[in-house]
Amino acid sequence: RKLNVALLGLGSYAKGQIAPSLQFTRHCQLAGIITGSPEKIPEWQAKHDIPDENVYSYDNMDELADNPNIDVVYVITPTATHKEFAVRAAKAGKHVWCEKPMAMTVEDSQAIIDACNENNVRLSIGYRMLHEPNTQDFIALSKEKAFGAFTAATSLAGYAGSDPPTDYWRGQRAMGGGALYDMGVYTVNGLRYGLQMAPVAVVKAMQHRPTEVDVTTEYTLEFPGGLLAEGKTSVVTNYNQLRIEGENGWHEMQPMQPYGGVKGLTSAGTVLGPPIDGKQQTLQMDDDALAIMNNTPVLAPGEMGRDDIAVIRAIIESAETGKRVVL
Ligand code: NAD
Repeated sequence: RKLNVALLGLGSYAKGQIAPSLQFTRHCQLAGIITGSPEKIPEWQAKHDIPDENVYSYDNMDELADNPNIDVVYVITPTATHKEFAVRAAKAGKHVWCEKPMAMTVEDSQAIIDACNENNVRLSIGYRMLHEPNTQDFIALSKEKAFGAFTAATSLAGYAGSDPPTDYWRGQRAMGGGALYDMGVYTVNGLRYGLQMAPVAVVKAMQHRPTEVDVTTEYTLEFPGGLLAEGKTSVVTNYNQLRIEGENGWHEMQPMQPYGGVKGLTSAGTVLGPPIDGKQQTLQMDDDALAIMNNTPVLAPGEMGRDDIAVIRAIIESAETGKRVVL
């Protein structure tokens, strides 16, 4: 059987990526919508054949508890709203898929994890790269330390958007706008899977914040053994690279996180490719659906999302205080 997914939030990512990707999934399907914009409902119902009984607003979404025809709620709203919506979905007894970045704070992230545990539902974070085959080959090289002990790492993710951001929530700090939350989470998560360990401290960080949100953030993370990694993220400049240096060589992905697919290269000349276009979200949702049906671990658990938010908060603290922040 296929799991029935309801999308919560019908903005650009839901419409442009997730709904189209759900047309190709084998283990789940688009079955419902939860929206605060009633004017969007007719188009979504018609296009995706969604019955009236699977259409909800933010006001009545708690009634999902009485709807056995929805299995999963996928939260795709501005970051600051993830916690409330994810907790309500869990309390309605639905499995939760939550977009990145998981939430604004570690406490909010933990509240989502707790709500899912208490209500016996599964949780995964929308880290699409973890489901991408070239990235998985890259991670395999990291796991086997193909180029010897790690000596350094660089993680860059940025796009050239409007300067400063004008989008109604991406320009607002309290909503989760800014480069570090939006794009920096890819660099932090990339270092986590590229080095196969968690950072122990933020050594230093710098944020360029011409308005209330940062448009560029640079940071240095320390990993066990004293390994240093440089991260840089932006919403006004393009860059896209994850590079892991070892004693005997290196492996890198450039670009490391576009929808159009990842391409990797190693110092031994191995190409991780060709880029696989347009499949990440399909693979992500099928992996997550199978994990629910088979009761197996997910690739991007809530704890990973929460721990990345802890790093993000520590980067902000280091930038504001000028001090090293221990994680
Ligand atoms: P968007 O602004 O295009 O859409 C957000 C939607 O949420 C809108 O439909 C809006 O009406 C709705 N919404 C619900 N509650 C709201 C509130 N209180 N205030 C404002 N809007 C509210 O944003 P988006 O680009 O679709 O991003 C949504 C989420 O998806 C974010 O968390 C973002 O980080 C994430 N995202 C992930 C990826 C990825 O590659 N994994 C890509 C893009 C966005």
